[in-house]
Amino acid sequence: MQISPTTKFALAAIAGIAIAVTFVSRPLTAPLPTTVQIADMTWVEVQSAIANGFTTVIVPSGGIEQNGPHMILSKHDYIVRHAAEGIAGELGKTLVAPVISYVPEGAYDPPTGHMRFPGTIGITEAAYANLIEGIARSLKAGGFRTICFIADHGGSQQPQADMIAKLNAEWSGKGIRLIHVDAYYADAPQIEKLMQQGETRAAIGEHASIIDTSELMAIHPNGVDLSRLDGTRLSLQPTGIVGDPSRASAARGKELLEIRIRAAVAQIRAQMATH
Ligand SMILES: [Zn+2]
Repeated sequence: MQISPTTKFALAAIAGIAIAVTFVSRPLTAPLPTTVQIADMTWVEVQSAIANGFTTVIVPSGGIEQNGPHMILSKHDYIVRHAAEGIAGELGKTLVAPVISYVPEGAYDPPTGHMRFPGTIGITEAAYANLIEGIARSLKAGGFRTICFIADHGGSQQPQADMIAKLNAEWSGKGIRLIHVDAYYADAPQIEKLMQQGETRAAIGEHASIIDTSELMAIHPNGVDLSRLDGTRLSLQPTGIVGDPSRASAARGKELLEIRIRAAVAQIRAQMATH
């Protein structure tokens, strides 16, 4: 049988399409990631993880601020990155976004709060809220369904809570859930633990003291040098410390971090269980 030129063309076209389809549909998949850190994955691995149920993501927020003469400026970043991985591990099928290092730290001129100390780098509350919004919209666009924000720094709490409330209202009924994990930041359970161990409220303090110094000692000991506290008690200059960090230890830090991670996991699980 003679094949007409039209049929030949049609057959060639079908063969061409078949080859093209085979080529295009060659699976652009990836094995499941060996890390939970989005920044260490390819987009294909993130896509594959989401398709396999990794639809929850933790966004850790840290800060660059003074932490006394004995502790490095990136205390928050180290602690919150470590905690985020711990929370993701406990929850399962959860990825972790890069740490937000720039957070509200006070006024610039005249400088207030931590801004009085060189090395502190702050942004406005409005800038921080915009950052949270952009990150949330990006993760939603990528396919994540539950987006959990944990902030290690006090000044980040309110602008973060407000932006999350605004976005949750906008996305109501769309199957997207943003969680401001305030249980991560609430320090009452840690304070209670230390007071049971005989510490005073004054020694526990507020900043660069037993809790945060211990936590950094547990996960990044090179970032703390307690010997540099010598003389701070008699100093007339502001030290940046509120409390008594000489009572800090790595063992305490491990215990205190576990309290924080457990509280965050419990809050996220409770919210995920609601509809
Ligand atoms: Zn802070």
